[in-house]
Amino acid sequence: MTNDGSPISAGATDGDKIRCDACPVMCYIKPGASGACDRYANDAGQLVRVDPHVVLQRTVSQGGQIVPFQKSGEWDGKLVQGRDVFVTAIGAGTTYPDYKPAPFIVSSEVDGVDMVTVVTEGIFSYCGVKVKIDTDRFLGPETSTVRAEGEAIGHVTTSEYGSQMLSLGGVHHLTGGSKKEGRVTCDALMDLCNGKAVELTVDNGATVVVQAGKPPIVNGVPEVRMRVGCGSAAIGMFAKQWQGKVDEVVVVDDHITGVLSEHQAGKLLDIPDTGIKMKGRRSTPGRYFQVAEPGTGWGGTQISDPLTVLGPFNPKVAKPGMRMLMVSTTGEHSAYFELDEALQPIEKPLPPELQQSVERIQENCEPALCTVLFMGGAGGSLRAGVTDNPVRLTRSVKESLTSVTSGGAPVYVWPGGGITFMVDVTQMPAGAFGYVPTPALVAPIEFTLRLSDYAALGGHMDYVRPLASLNADTEMRQAAPPPPKSGTHS
Ligand code: SF4
Repeated sequence: MTNDGSPISAGATDGDKIRCDACPVMCYIKPGASGACDRYANDAGQLVRVDPHVVLQRTVSQGGQIVPFQKSGEWDGKLVQGRDVFVTAIGAGTTYPDYKPAPFIVSSEVDGVDMVTVVTEGIFSYCGVKVKIDTDRFLGPETSTVRAEGEAIGHVTTSEYGSQMLSLGGVHHLTGGSKKEGRVTCDALMDLCNGKAVELTVDNGATVVVQAGKPPIVNGVPEVRMRVGCGSAAIGMFAKQWQGKVDEVVVVDDHITGVLSEHQAGKLLDIPDTGIKMKGRRSTPGRYFQVAEPGTGWGGTQISDPLTVLGPFNPKVAKPGMRMLMVSTTGEHSAYFELDEALQPIEKPLPPELQQSVERIQENCEPALCTVLFMGGAGGSLRAGVTDNPVRLTRSVKESLTSVTSGGAPVYVWPGGGITFMVDVTQMPAGAFGYVPTPALVAPIEFTLRLSDYAALGGHMDYVRPLASLNADTEMRQAAPPPPKSGTHS
């Protein structure tokens, strides 16, 4: 259970207690007990990292990608002897807030090149998550506060392309509010990052259960489909399939409601005018904004009766018997009408050929999922654990000499100052995130570069150790493959 290859050491002692100096909390830990974060323990007077250190496989067949070991039953225990092993920072331990070298600085040969991977579990006090929720249903006004256990942990941010976005965590919620706000924020972020379900409430909006890689549950209703596109896009996609089968189609959408006879796609097919009158604000022909208030009904609006988005038909154009399909952007809602002698739409059973077109919309909708991206930054002391001149690490990352991964998963590094990165938590091994009660999240980060480049940027060369040396003093485990993506539907 030990990772005592780490340079982390017990500092002061108090009787038989030892002090952990792996984070600013500086716990004094009794023999047989663990510290406040349950990550370090006093094992017969020795400070140990409780969780095993995670390694991954570097593939040949997948272009050198780093992946979890696929056949856990065939592991021979010779975990770190092959060149195909990648040492992650999960379970590696922390060096914060001081200047100590990273817990593991491991050399290996990859494709004939001497490489080094610097691994550390970073302590992220300013981190956050960005959540993409595939749903048309209205979660709440942009900038509304998002809460967990009643505490403010973030806000609703801009909705984009049929998904609603939340921005959670960050320095102000973790450290700038009450103690409870910081703790609850930290717990919610850690659970989301570790793939657990978290119930969130939006001020003046919905309750939503979010779990990375799973469908969102909005006000108790699991979301099934992500819309095929906006109402206008749906008209463009399916106009030809409606031609000859119906006189008018309205695709109801909170963002852009589409009207076939007026839309450019309808014009190209010579679909005649129908005298339809839409509510809302016309943007361009056949494309209407704000036909209704947002909500959890048809197409992300609050309506349950689609006729409420229509005004009276123009009697100079409309004719009795005219056929009209109204459908939502997911195909979840649909209704068929025919105009009576008074030009009033009367609902009738959906003809089979139109039922097929509704099913085609549904078929083209992708499964609705929640996506959780962890957003962290390699701060001063974390970079000091890599090199004695931290700005050189930043430059090396920006010059693509140093690759950054998080638990072996590829990250997106933001342009501009610092090393600010985002990572899809579903690409990381299970249980990759921890916490310390400062409060802050603990997350793995690895820097991989040529050994010669590492020396040039002022790396801690005295601490570089060969991969095979980890066998002797470190308990390791291979990562389980990430859970399969769910949310598919027929
Ligand atoms: S909270 Fe954890 S890492 Fe921090 S000092 Fe205590 S045991 Fe060590």
